[in-house]
Amino acid sequence: MQLDAVSSHGKMLIRGVLQEAASGKRFEVRNPATDEVVGSAPSAGREETIAALDAAAAAFPEWRDRPASERAAVLLALAQGLRADRERFAMVMTAEQGKPLAEARGEVEYAATFLEWAAEEGKRLGGEIIPANSAAKRLLVLARPVGVTAAITPWNFPLAMITRKLGSALAVGCTQVVKPAEQTPLSALALGALARDAGVPPGVLNVVTGEPVPIVEALFAHRVLRKVSFTGSTEVGRELMRRAADRVVRLSLELGGHAPFIVFADADLDRAVAGAIASKFRNAGQTCICANRFLVERSVHDAFVERLAAAMSSLTVGPGDVDGISIGPLIDDAAMRKVEAHVTEARDGGAQVVVGGRRATPRDPRGRSLADRFFEPTLLTGVRPGMRCTIEETFGPVAPVQVFDSEAQAIELANDTPYGLAAYLYTGDVGRLWRVAERLDFGVIGANDALPSTAQAPFGGVKQSGFGREGGHHGLREYIDLRYISLGL
Ligand code: NAP
Repeated sequence: MQLDAVSSHGKMLIRGVLQEAASGKRFEVRNPATDEVVGSAPSAGREETIAALDAAAAAFPEWRDRPASERAAVLLALAQGLRADRERFAMVMTAEQGKPLAEARGEVEYAATFLEWAAEEGKRLGGEIIPANSAAKRLLVLARPVGVTAAITPWNFPLAMITRKLGSALAVGCTQVVKPAEQTPLSALALGALARDAGVPPGVLNVVTGEPVPIVEALFAHRVLRKVSFTGSTEVGRELMRRAADRVVRLSLELGGHAPFIVFADADLDRAVAGAIASKFRNAGQTCICANRFLVERSVHDAFVERLAAAMSSLTVGPGDVDGISIGPLIDDAAMRKVEAHVTEARDGGAQVVVGGRRATPRDPRGRSLADRFFEPTLLTGVRPGMRCTIEETFGPVAPVQVFDSEAQAIELANDTPYGLAAYLYTGDVGRLWRVAERLDFGVIGANDALPSTAQAPFGGVKQSGFGREGGHHGLREYIDLRYISLGL
């Protein structure tokens, strides 16, 4: 299937109706691999956001009062719809985001699991009866949906970052307004249309596309908004906290990361190398839990670097819609400049470039002219603390390696960051695995595991990586208010 075949001119979903922006204006969406226009989305703002919130508020009482099993059936139908339409969603995602098709297919499946898990888990969300101090009282705790919520999502997982929020919100009886990233609105618009067809009632899910500031201002100004769940950069997360403060709106923030990947001398090195490839190069290094820096014990440093370099030679760079590509383009020119700056600064500071280190110039088998947004998978050694790649999220296919000499030093280096999303450690010693895992100041720890994200487990950060959890039964609790009833008999 060609990308042209899935070009999308989707409409927003508000109150169950697919619609354009009031102004009739749309913005173009381009494939980052080719700069070709692959679709467009409505340029909405304040007016449409208010309409979406009004619709979500109107839909809330009926949705809240449905039995959880009925809400679950709707979510399961949506998950099934996604799976049935996997190829189209994957093509849309690759077209607007650039990730290899195999990864996009994986994301469709991953996105469906969040709906499914939340649907099932929502049925089990009960309350509590607490023993009272008085025989004449009963103390009850009810789990009630918080109400109208909003989800603001990033471009790097255009579908799964929505369903990770939407599943939990809808499962417990909340309604939601989704605002996707401008670079990747097409997956979200397609999800809105699918939701309507799958039986999500009018107003329960609304999708609004456009520039963020007018939409976000309208969200926080509206009295019905009770909660915002945001995935994106720490900078924007901070701004949302300030906005939320004015009306004391509840927040969940899934923000940036700077994941250390620690390899101890007693690790199975082949397993660590396979993990390094999976963690570092997924989505061209553009995931919040991608390993951002490798900390390797001195005695195995050379062997690890040699094997990682060999494994990296099998990575292929090119447009994501070409078979066999493992690394697609970076999302935009600013991302390219940042990745290049991190590599240049490290090299100028004395780091060695073992593999890559430059812009890549892949050829397209279809003869399209490609954008200058491909970067070679890069391996740097001799990296020292203080270099930008050890401080800021690189968000690209660059693996900087630092050496350590003791367990204590590894933990100190790993924790020396304002971020606290994911960390990885590879060791063959179970005692060390526990010790180190308990001391790493991160919300998600991959212990001999490079792919820890799953719908059943609580995902989220500490420190400046945010707060709140998505996935697991914990994810549903983010959309629950506890109501305590003191019952006099
Ligand atoms: P971003 O710039 O913060 O954008 C995220 C969302 O916020 C987009 O919908 C964006 O809209 C919107 N936005 C931008 N400026 C805003 C503002 N001033 N006020 C309110 N909303 C605003 O992040 P990104 O570049 O898309 O995503 C990459 C970041 O997300 C990385 O830092 C990554 O680590 C993080 N991330 C975290 C997780 C996690 O689970 N912790 C998962 C994935 C990604 P527009 O796109 O329309 O500007």
